[in-house]
Amino acid sequence: METIKKKTRARDTVARWNSCGFDVGLVPTMGALHQGHLSLVEASLSECDKTVVSIFLNPTQFGRDEDLDQYPRQTETDLRILKQMGVDMAFTPAKEEMYQENFCTWVVQEYLTEKLCGAFRPDHFRGVCTVVAKLFNTIQAKCAFFGRKDFQQAAVIKRMIRDLDIPITVRVMPTVREKDGLALSSRNRYLSQKERNSTACLHKALIAAREGFQSGVKDIDILLGLMRERLNKGGGIIKPQYTEIVAPDTLNRPETPSSSDIAAIAAFAGDTRLIDNMPLGGKNRDIYLNQAGNERV
Ligand code: AMP
Repeated sequence: METIKKKTRARDTVARWNSCGFDVGLVPTMGALHQGHLSLVEASLSECDKTVVSIFLNPTQFGRDEDLDQYPRQTETDLRILKQMGVDMAFTPAKEEMYQENFCTWVVQEYLTEKLCGAFRPDHFRGVCTVVAKLFNTIQAKCAFFGRKDFQQAAVIKRMIRDLDIPITVRVMPTVREKDGLALSSRNRYLSQKERNSTACLHKALIAAREGFQSGVKDIDILLGLMRERLNKGGGIIKPQYTEIVAPDTLNRPETPSSSDIAAIAAFAGDTRLIDNMPLGGKNRDIYLNQAGNERV
């Protein structure tokens, strides 16, 4: 595995692969890799000839009061795991490499970015769109892999590549969860044992909305009520920021829910902000850990 810090070298290497006719896959991450990230890496390794994983803790997507300084950093461990998996390139630029002096050009998307998390994290998606567009320009991959755990982010990026004619295919992969349903996140390691014990209620709230919908409840307020009721069973430790049901393409709340609509939650456990989501209908395709053979970290 090559570990590359410079944009020009990364771009040249990928250009060489493209000229040989290889399909290149890109997995953008902020590091502190867990099984959720690795499921994206595995998808790229199996679908593409060459896999690039970027590790870049992007400062511009964190608000002033958010957790950039505490965010876990373990680049050596991450690189060891990626090498073992057979990744072809780790792209690990420094902050100064990605954001040159006097940087002042941003990708600002309207509409989808104002909803859900965007309503509470005003510049978050500006930072995400900008860094992802820059990564797409540097690593000219055929395919980029994102997690459905951050489904608003995936919707925003899909809209960005359509609106800006960026020639890449975005693949959105299932959420990887702990056995009790908590979606894996680099932030889970902030949780105290007491907080961790309460976090399964996010997953239970999403399941309550699904089960309600699938047993015939077609009133959004009732479905939202079922979710909130379940979250309230978090022993007072879980503080919801939003509970929503939205259409996957517009992120608007539908008048009448349909099976492709998504139940979504953001909640605090202490100072740790957790997000999760699940479609109301269809088969649950999420991956639950501690089933034989799916643990690596
Ligand atoms: P991050 O490092 O948090 O920016 O995440 C990098 C990528 O991993 C994003 O596309 C996330 O959606 C994805 N990801 C994070 N957690 C999970 C998870 N539990 N299951 C699947 N994908 C995930």
